[in-house]
Amino acid sequence: MRSFLWLASVEPGVPTREEYLHISGPEKVAFYVLMAVSVAILLAQVIRRIALWRSGKPPTWKPDPIGSIAKYVLGQRKVQSSRPKSGAPMHLMIFYGFMALFLATTLLAISSYGYLVGLPRFHQGNYYLLYEATFDALGLLFLVGIVWAGIRRAALIEAERQNPEAKVNPNPLSHRPSDWAVLGLLFVLGLTGYILEAARIAVNPKPWDHYSFVGWTLAAVVPASFGPEGYKAIWWFHAFLVAVLFATLPLMRIKHIVTATLAVAGAKTDPNMGRLVPIRMEEVEETGQIGVNDTKQFTSWHLMSLDACMECGRCTEVCPAHNVGKVLNPKRVVQDTLGAHLAGGSEVIERVTEEALWECTTCNACVEACPVLIKHVDMIVDMRRNLVAEGKLSGSGATLLRQLGSTGNAWGAQSSQREDWMKGLDIPLCRDGKPFEYLFWVGCAGATDPLGMKTTKAFAALLRKANVSFACLGSEESCTGDPARRLGDEFTFQASAEMNLAAFKKYGVKKVVTACPHCLNTLRNEYGDFGDELEVFHHTELLSELVGQGLLRGAQPAAGHVTYHDPCYLARVNNTSDPPRSLVGDDTDFDKNGPALLDEAARPPYPLRVLAEPKQHARKTLCCGAGGGRMWMDEEPDQRPSSRRLDQLVETGAETIAVACPFCRIMLDAGMKQRSDADHIRLVDLAEMMQEANAE
Ligand code: SF4
Ligand code: SF4
Repeated sequence: MRSFLWLASVEPGVPTREEYLHISGPEKVAFYVLMAVSVAILLAQVIRRIALWRSGKPPTWKPDPIGSIAKYVLGQRKVQSSRPKSGAPMHLMIFYGFMALFLATTLLAISSYGYLVGLPRFHQGNYYLLYEATFDALGLLFLVGIVWAGIRRAALIEAERQNPEAKVNPNPLSHRPSDWAVLGLLFVLGLTGYILEAARIAVNPKPWDHYSFVGWTLAAVVPASFGPEGYKAIWWFHAFLVAVLFATLPLMRIKHIVTATLAVAGAKTDPNMGRLVPIRMEEVEETGQIGVNDTKQFTSWHLMSLDACMECGRCTEVCPAHNVGKVLNPKRVVQDTLGAHLAGGSEVIERVTEEALWECTTCNACVEACPVLIKHVDMIVDMRRNLVAEGKLSGSGATLLRQLGSTGNAWGAQSSQREDWMKGLDIPLCRDGKPFEYLFWVGCAGATDPLGMKTTKAFAALLRKANVSFACLGSEESCTGDPARRLGDEFTFQASAEMNLAAFKKYGVKKVVTACPHCLNTLRNEYGDFGDELEVFHHTELLSELVGQGLLRGAQPAAGHVTYHDPCYLARVNNTSDPPRSLVGDDTDFDKNGPALLDEAARPPYPLRVLAEPKQHARKTLCCGAGGGRMWMDEEPDQRPSSRRLDQLVETGAETIAVACPFCRIMLDAGMKQRSDADHIRLVDLAEMMQEANAE
């Protein structure tokens, strides 16, 4: 009735269209009942789901819902940056097409029912013409995206079928029969929308119908005998499909359109991913619980984020452990955790498996790739914490924890040995009592490992050369506790943190510089939870600044290209990849070495003529396999992430591999010794390259 009333109020000849055309009053009631039933089914499932999420602990962080939704949902930041060649354009078409259709329906509903709150009907005139033309075009985008998704999925299934023996699937998208059902449903919904438009134009033509250009074109092929009854049949079919979509939405992967938005809205937004949430002693005393062995011990946000996973496999695609054939598969970790939660929660570790949990390098590549911001590393470390508390870590990992606990050094060296590298160098020590600006944090590798010591000496010499005021803790330094924390031994970590923070306090340390990205991450992002915040710099950041001030020269590579391996804990976890690059080389070598392999468009505003970038670099770098305590754990020779990374570095054709992390250096050095094609390649820390350039 209402639709006829408004028609009377529209000037004759003003473009618009009649709603509920040929639909009688009783039929409208039936339509409302159908919609109410489908929405009720949807809500019942949503309420059950919310109860499951709420069984977790309250989150401990403050989210930024508006900023996150703008960036990751509307801006599709992760989808756009993760793998453009294998699905991003398709997803963008479906997403923006779907959003456009959702907006079109919402606008129409406001125009139709706004009178209930005193709004005038506005679906007419030039607005109507613009609406029709715009949403007809955007709907096409949606349909093309759906067809693209179907073809892509079929191609991936066929590729898997043809290569059933492949150890590692390069496109680990999950496939279920319901995926076809949802693609089919969305396609038919979109198509029947256009057919409905064509039928309306055929039975009730208007002079402005060509603005609805898709329906208008289709109307030319609608049979002449097509009458109001035919129109009504299509209308009902379309309405039925909408009802089916509402009722089944929570059962299908497409539910992520809602769950992903919720997960993104509530996620931690710290741009540095490196902070793990501490275990509080008071909580342990109260609950007797350490870590997670039941999904209900995760936060409600983590539980909700599991429901947002659409099994796209982006995390799996980038996992260094999975890619060398290990059991760990971050997508499976999420799905197994979800499965465990739906089954009551107590069997989560059994489902995920201990083997998978220990294989993680905590490189955060999965977290970086995940479009819905799932925090795999938080969950993995939480489960490791429980395993450690239950005494389930054995072998070389357990030896590391014992060494670290007894000596404060990950290699088990005594504290006095931390000063071995200083012999004959007259290195200033905090205990000398002289004022200093920077504490040079050496770290276990920098003080103990022969390769790490080379970096340490080179950096100390550069600080001297640039007249930087610094001092070291020497024997008063103890491991930051990073490997213990990431292996799950929170209490050894907290003991280390307390000891080091006491030393910082004693000497009034405010600024720290270190050549180890793992130490940097812990000191910069995690020690603040136990004491004062520190200003912490990576050695490449300080060196870059000193070069900028003209106090030091950048590296002068002897010949050939240099490739730089970004450490995960610097480039990805702490978002720092430009300063090390700024040290690699300068324009003077350009003529000698030829053009860089780096794309002109991707070149930052500092000299990079000698830099040859590996396939994965900056935040997308590939892990060497050392993080998360893995450096101390046994590795099968054919399952070393460092071999895969070396393949990429060697492929650049560079004659120098520059590194900026002692862990990476140890792993890559061991890998190079196993290869026959790397004899001519030099592996060296940027500090050493700089020291050579500043020798005289
Ligand atoms: S966890 Fe994230 S990246 Fe991995 S499959 Fe799920 S949605 Fe995709
Ligand atoms: S953090 Fe790295 S190793 Fe661990 S699951 Fe994620 S991608 Fe794999």
